[in-house]
Amino acid sequence: MLWTHTFIPTLKETPAEAEIASHKLLLRAGLIRKLTGGLYTFLPLGVRALRKVEKIVREEMNRAGALEVLMPALQPPEIWEKSGRLVTASDVLFKLRDRAKKEWLLGPTHEEVITTLVAGEINSYRQLPRNFYQIQTKFRDEIRPRFGLMRAKEFIMKDAYSFDATDELAQVSYQKMYDAYTRIFARCGLKALPVEADTGVMGGKFSHEFMVPAETGENEVVYCDGCRYAANLEKAVSAGPAVATSTAPATAELEKFPTPGVVTIDALAAAPYLVPAERQIKTLVYLADSKLVLILLRGDDQLNEAKLVATLGTPHVRPASAEEIFGALSAHPGSLGAVGVTTLPVYADTVLTNATEMTTGANEDGFHFRNVSAARDLKVTHWADFRSVKVGEACAKCGQPLKIQRAIEVGHVFKLGTKYSEKLSAYFLDENGKQQPAVMGCYGIGVTRTMQAVIEQSHDKDGVIWPISVAPYTVCLTPLSVTPGGPVMALAEKLHAELEAAGVDVILDDRDERPGVKFKDSELVGFPIRVGIGEKSLAKGEVELKTRGGQLVPVPVGEIVARVMGLIAAAQ
Ligand code: ATP
Ligand code: MG
Repeated sequence: MLWTHTFIPTLKETPAEAEIASHKLLLRAGLIRKLTGGLYTFLPLGVRALRKVEKIVREEMNRAGALEVLMPALQPPEIWEKSGRLVTASDVLFKLRDRAKKEWLLGPTHEEVITTLVAGEINSYRQLPRNFYQIQTKFRDEIRPRFGLMRAKEFIMKDAYSFDATDELAQVSYQKMYDAYTRIFARCGLKALPVEADTGVMGGKFSHEFMVPAETGENEVVYCDGCRYAANLEKAVSAGPAVATSTAPATAELEKFPTPGVVTIDALAAAPYLVPAERQIKTLVYLADSKLVLILLRGDDQLNEAKLVATLGTPHVRPASAEEIFGALSAHPGSLGAVGVTTLPVYADTVLTNATEMTTGANEDGFHFRNVSAARDLKVTHWADFRSVKVGEACAKCGQPLKIQRAIEVGHVFKLGTKYSEKLSAYFLDENGKQQPAVMGCYGIGVTRTMQAVIEQSHDKDGVIWPISVAPYTVCLTPLSVTPGGPVMALAEKLHAELEAAGVDVILDDRDERPGVKFKDSELVGFPIRVGIGEKSLAKGEVELKTRGGQLVPVPVGEIVARVMGLIAAAQ
């Protein structure tokens, strides 16, 4: 390809719209352009990198035995009604109407469609197992589209769905996808860590996310260097808080005491009260499916909303307003507590089990209770883990201190069980002629997000550092003079033809630009291999080979093609 024949609108300045390095570089290197928030056009270089990621995904899916299909992006809401997700996933659904005013939706994912297909096509255990996948555009009404392709309204996903006769076989299918994902991300040049994940509104049983460590990631991963435990913070557990909860015998009587103006944990921890945060009970009021619930945590802990959603079994959860709280408890936030509360469900964190000598709000502005014993003074209706793990807490498996790292979720594998097959009637006859729901798994990779994650993980101040596997072009030939028929251009054209013939993705920078401009652009776009051809070195029978991020090396003209081919082979 000739540079002047393609379209690479590189930018010197960073567009104001971009906050993170990979988003800036996607724009500056001329890979994408914004149409409007969350919607992007892929330019020729962007399409090339995207197709390479897709190719890797496709090869590994095929290798793992999954079968490629292509489902409609436009979906009838009836199947979402059946699965129950018309309500539970309503926040992300893009809905539209046709000329007859009938409602449709644009698929954010395809469990409903594939399960409907399987319900109609598969009726015997002999037709199982099956795994179908597609690479297709998804639509999600994200609250906050941002960071370019990372969180878009429209993006490309690879989604796969497995159907098995039994739970054990479903585990085998799950493992195959897990292994395929490990290979896919490695081939894309990404360090991606599989972590235990929350199953959210998918209603699954078991799941892993593949996380690319990056400071700009929207997720937090808790991990242990000792035993390699790793989990999304939304799901992570530890052996417990660093300072244990008091469980001394509850001898002292419950006592109300005045705390004028005290509405925070910190204020109660300060003079004159001096109640350490770990001796306080924090009382939160939430609305779950429009019903009020109390949530009790230790004063030094933070509520983990994902765990709350998982325990309550509904995604429609929000903090109650001050008015809603006052209506139910006759007190304002800062003075709330569960002592004597019997009219509302009380959900308490397990760290408070058997807690004694605690202090909590008295449901009376300006007053708290001290000497609270959880067993004696609180009517807890549900105990569960609601707290977020903190850095340094002991690993529940091996006791080593846990660490926390920000990360980008690029893929997600779920064991779904029979939720969708039951709701959408994907039944089959087992060996005994008995009807059974197929056991499902679902597996997603954000293809466009993965492409950007490669850049986020691999760049420097000059531009992208593409791994050869997903680079838009592997080799950039940079003649320093483009005089037609001159020796420099003649050699450039010869090498271009030879490399193309050898199947190498090569671009010849035939622009009549200063060498500095060409070199800068080639670093910015990040071609893995650059071959500089100038009159001076050519006079010595040499060209200049430079790998992106490496040193400039003179190479005899006659050896350059073999050297380039060697570098490409070594990267495979
Ligand atoms: P997130 O938590 O980031 O919103 P998710 O858990 O909702 O993602 P899944 O339903 O698991 O996403 O989708 C599978 C994959 O699709 C994700 O692992 C991610 O790589 C990608 N993905 C999800 N939402 C978006 C988006 N808005 N833009 C780009 N890629 C996305
Ligand atoms: Mg996910």
